[in-house]
Amino acid sequence: MAKRYDAIIIGTGQAGPSLAARLSAAGQSVAVVERGRFGGTCVNTGCIPTKTLVASAAAAETVRRASQFGVVAPPPTVDMKAVKARKDMISGESSASVEKSVRGLANGTAIPVGRRFLASSIAARSSSASLVWPSFASWAANCIATEKNRCSSRSTNEATSAFS
Ligand SMILES: Cc1cc2nc3c(=O)[nH]c(=O)nc-3n(C[C@H](O)[C@H](O)[C@H](O)COP(=O)(O)OP(=O)(O)OC[C@H]3O[C@@H](n4cnc5c(N)ncnc54)[C@H](O)[C@@H]3O)c2cc1C
Repeated sequence: MAKRYDAIIIGTGQAGPSLAARLSAAGQSVAVVERGRFGGTCVNTGCIPTKTLVASAAAAETVRRASQFGVVAPPPTVDMKAVKARKDMISGESSASVEKSVRGLANGTAIPVGRRFLASSIAARSSSASLVWPSFASWAANCIATEKNRCSSRSTNEATSAFS
């Protein structure tokens, strides 16, 4: 038998997990669907990994300029395997943290899905739920506190048009 949710949030990027937490705290049953790595672009391939690479480059540059600070040091050698390992570790910890928080929601369910996942299939199976696509998750988070019912129907309508 199909399971029904008050809200289904697609994607665990910047807005999805915090929206899920707020809905869950408000007593709604929430399904969070993720087809890739938990945390989305920022955590896995965007902000966080790029900043770890920049930090490694800055460290190498500081060592290269050590003599300007009165410090005697040999020219730096960059171990790219170690740089990548550090990047993967920090990014991986962040992703795991997002996954843990989503899986730990009081009224929530995390649904990792394969690459072939079609949002419309879960929409069809959960016709009573509000579907929240990542692009309007921030908007939905803002309006939950004020006009819950209107927000729900608007997000469902917008999600439906996004699938067609
Ligand atoms: C190289 C790079 C560096 C960046 N650096 C910064 C920075 O320093 N500061 C900053 O503010 N921003 C930065 N950004 C931008 C930032 O990463 C994005 O603005 C942000 O991640 C967008 O968040 P989002 O939730 O909208 O989308 P995403 O983070 O992309 O999340 C969308 C999620 O939805 C999932 N998803 C999508 N469709 C489906 C589906 N049909 N079914 C299931 N799951 C689905 C995806 O797998 C993904 O996890 C950077 C981006 C890049 C590429």
